[in-house]
Amino acid sequence: MPPEVVTPGARKSQRQHRRDMCIVGRWIHGRAFVAATDGNISVRLDSKRILTSPTGVSKGLMTPRDMVITDLQGKKLAGTREPSSELAMHLLIYANRPDVNAVCHAHPPTATAYAAAGLPLDRALLSELVVTLGYIPLARYGTPGTPELSNSLKPLVKSHDAILMANHGAVTCGADLLTAFFHMETLEHFAQVSLATEVLGKQLLLSGRDVEKLAAARVRYGNTSAAPIGSNCPVTSDSPKFCVENSDLISVTREELESLIEEAVRKDRISR
Ligand SMILES: [Zn+2]
Repeated sequence: MPPEVVTPGARKSQRQHRRDMCIVGRWIHGRAFVAATDGNISVRLDSKRILTSPTGVSKGLMTPRDMVITDLQGKKLAGTREPSSELAMHLLIYANRPDVNAVCHAHPPTATAYAAAGLPLDRALLSELVVTLGYIPLARYGTPGTPELSNSLKPLVKSHDAILMANHGAVTCGADLLTAFFHMETLEHFAQVSLATEVLGKQLLLSGRDVEKLAAARVRYGNTSAAPIGSNCPVTSDSPKFCVENSDLISVTREELESLIEEAVRKDRISR
């Protein structure tokens, strides 16, 4: 059997896109980024059409004929199966990111554990991650397949190629399907390393200066990712303990919360 190869680049025939989606589907399933029939992937065929994986089919068992073509509003144009119920998340990304031609949604276990714990992957722990994705924010919970989920993702999609979704999973995107898949693989790998540092009980964060140098290196490596590297995100050894950029979710320790409450009570007493 010939090796399974997904060619990079977005400009290819629809037949090739269908074949590539089957291969990437097998990779996603084979790496246990999804269980059963979970997850979905799509590519932008042209300015008016999306090719998406079908609902109710294991990503490891898809055939080229299973794919569904929809317009940018999600209306089915061709295919014997139905598109994923989570297609709205893909359409939101295509509408807001003209640079994106592929979207990958999965539930990789370690990254999803962070999402279920309400924790973004926002620490400057690995130089490679800072160069590729910047950091990975957490979108607040929204019921899958409803506008609630799209609304929670909306503030983040313009500036991130990988996003955690609270109590659900993750979504990644890229200029082509291979890049979108690689972003999912990088996200899960980073989540595993982050978890290992938690187990070890120590996280040695990069400094703000280190991150600045990596930000400059991004351009040198030809990375045109929209994922931002701001003054507070990712969290460095000399920045605040949590990212607040583009998110209304923050995390504080019990000690920090108690001191915030004490300060609020003190101010209230003074003002009376
Ligand atoms: Zn899902």
